[in-house]
Parts: sequence; C-alpha cells; structure tokens
Amino acid sequence: MTYRIPFNKPFIAGNEMAYIAQAVERGQLSGDGTFTHQCHAWLEQNLTCRMALLTHSGTAALEMAAMLADIQPGDEVIMPSFTFVSTANAFVLRGAMPVFVDIRPDTMNLDETLIKGAITPKTKAIVPVHYAGVPCEMDVILDLAKRHNTWVIEDAAQALLSTYHGRALGTLGDLGCISFHETKNIISGEGGALLINRTDCKERAEIIREKGTNRKRFLRGDVDKYTWVDIGSSYLPSELTAAFLLAQFEKADAIIRRRCQICDRYGQGLQDLVRRNLVTLPFSSSETGSNGHMYYLVTRSSEERNALMAHLRQQGILAVFHYVPLHSSPAGQRYGRTGSAMTHTDHISACLVRLPVYYEMTDSETDQVIESILKFYSNP
Ligand SMILES: *Cc1c(COP(=O)(O)O)cnc(C)c1O
Repeated sequence: MTYRIPFNKPFIAGNEMAYIAQAVERGQLSGDGTFTHQCHAWLEQNLTCRMALLTHSGTAALEMAAMLADIQPGDEVIMPSFTFVSTANAFVLRGAMPVFVDIRPDTMNLDETLIKGAITPKTKAIVPVHYAGVPCEMDVILDLAKRHNTWVIEDAAQALLSTYHGRALGTLGDLGCISFHETKNIISGEGGALLINRTDCKERAEIIREKGTNRKRFLRGDVDKYTWVDIGSSYLPSELTAAFLLAQFEKADAIIRRRCQICDRYGQGLQDLVRRNLVTLPFSSSETGSNGHMYYLVTRSSEERNALMAHLRQQGILAVFHYVPLHSSPAGQRYGRTGSAMTHTDHISACLVRLPVYYEMTDSETDQVIESILKFYSNP
C-alpha cells in the first residue's frame, strides 16, 4: 500500500550522485578511501571528538564498542528496555547479560535515578540511548560510571548533532554509536559511525574494524608486515556509501533545521489536545537540544492509539509505533533480565505513536496530519 503521506522518505541532499560517480572514476570502491577520510574529518570537526570511524551500520558500531570495552561472558550491561534490538544484541553477542532499567515518562530516556539500584559487581557498562535525539542526563550517568568503574557507551544512533550542555551527543561517554540508516536524519542507506573519545582505544578500534589485523598501521608504515593481532570483523563501509554520506553531511544543518521546524509545527498544531488532557507531546527541540529526529504523541490507552493509527491510515497517512520492550521479547527474556520495575516502558510502548517526519515534508503535509489527528479527537 502506498500512502499519501508516508512515514519516512529517503532524500537526496545535493551532491550524492556526483560524488558516487567520482568514487567510481577514482577506481577505489572498497572502504577507507578519500570519501571515507573526508567523512571522518567532518565528524571529528563538527562533533569535536578524538576519532570517528565509519561503519556499515549503527549496529556494527555498537558491536565494535562491545569488543572495545572488552565485554566478557557473565558481564552485565545496563540499558533501557525501550530501545532497538541492536542496543542489546551487540552485548549479548559477547556473552553479556543486558540488565533493563525503566525510562522516564517525559523524555523516554533511561531513568538515571534507577541505574544505581541495578548496578552489581558484574556491571561492566552503562548504555544510555538518546531516544528521539533527546539527551539522557549524562552528568548523572557519567558520575555513576566513574564511581562504579564502568564504561559508558552512548547509543546515539538517533542523535547526530544533538547537544547536551553544548556538547555533541556521542562524544560524552567513552564511546558513541551513530546510525545513518535511511530512517535517521542524515542517511546513507545503511551506515554508521563509532566515535572514540578515549585515546587508549584508538589503535584497537582500527584493528577491530579491519578484521582484527594491523592493516592500518602497516599502511601508515608503522609496522613492516600486516597480520592477525586481535578479534575483529569487517566493519568498513564501501566508498560508495561514504560518497553518499559526505553529500548529506554538507547539508546537515539545513536538514536538521527543517526537521526541527516540522516538529515545532506539530507541537503548535497539537497543543489543544494537551490542554484537553487527551495526549502528551514531546519537549520542543529548543528545550532539549535535540535534532528533530522524531515526533510522537502518547495516547491514554493502547486501544485509542490503535484506533488513531487506523484512522490516519484511512486518510492515507502512515503513523507507526515501537518498540516491543526488549524485556518482554522472546530473546530479551532468554538473554536479559530487568533491573527495575518496567511501569513506564510498558505504558509508553502501548500508547506511543510516531508521526511522519522527513526532510522534504511540506508544511501543508504536516498540517494534513495535524488536521486528521484533531478530527479523530473531535468525534465524541
Ligand atoms: C537505528 C538504531 C540502531 C541501529 O542502527 P542501524 O544503522 O540500523 O544498524 C541502534 N539503536 C537505536 C536506538 C536506533 O534507533
């Protein structure tokens, strides 16, 4: 079924096709060519981080982070249950146990006041997920991590160019993971990046990303042969992906500004429903430093949420929900455990509905979604 207003629409920002053609002409399609290096430099400058490495997905960046933190079987990793499966899978692949903590009902982020109660002697890492690009309470989380000697790995998949007290998300913890999947703000189809904020991880990160070999050091002339030195896998994206991504980076400010405008328009248009206590809405991007990644509303019940989604679908508008909480999923029950009550996680996953947001969405399209929602709530 095609929708008059889809949920998401991949877009060309400007130079994508020209850069892909250049990559083909240069004759290097495998990873770590000129375009990849330009993407690394862009991330390091614009986010202010020590080292950025492109990966073929946000999931791959999370897997690399789990290896870098030396996660071992039996270790515990604290994370929200209200997140995408990759947050947990990356650590389960290393034999660790995800310990799920509830979210705050205002930001949908890990409730920082519940983390302490979930820490045990086995806790090796805390993984804050910046939901919708809205920052977690990083000061509290970083302080807890310091006192309990754990890693902080930010799942900043949705949070490129969001800020917390003026600093880019993904650069506050030890490691940060970004996604460029076509549903995110800045896209390359599939794609991601690992941000490395500790000098003592830089060399090992290059090795893990290059199949566990010291190829990077060999290419720099630091060692005279190239060999297998550690665990690792193939995490490099192709130059075609990097070429596409660089063109998106060039328009990043405009893309994020536009998405924030769309979110603000939803916020204004739906305010009346908040006054009537029918729904709750997210904070505006100017209140949180978020990047306009997502707009959602929370209904009073799951029946109402499902009826609203069906109503929008009838009008040709695709609205979606997520996540099936990890603690209630089959794999989450097998591999993880809860570290707190899950009151808000259960409620939000039953009542949250995401509205269409994409770079090329017009004001008129946004208004049509708003009107359809208002109409739904005008019928007694
Ligand atoms: C998108 C997303 C990921 C995974 O990124 P991919 O690039 O699709 O692998 C991980 N965590 C969160 C919170 C995400 O939204």
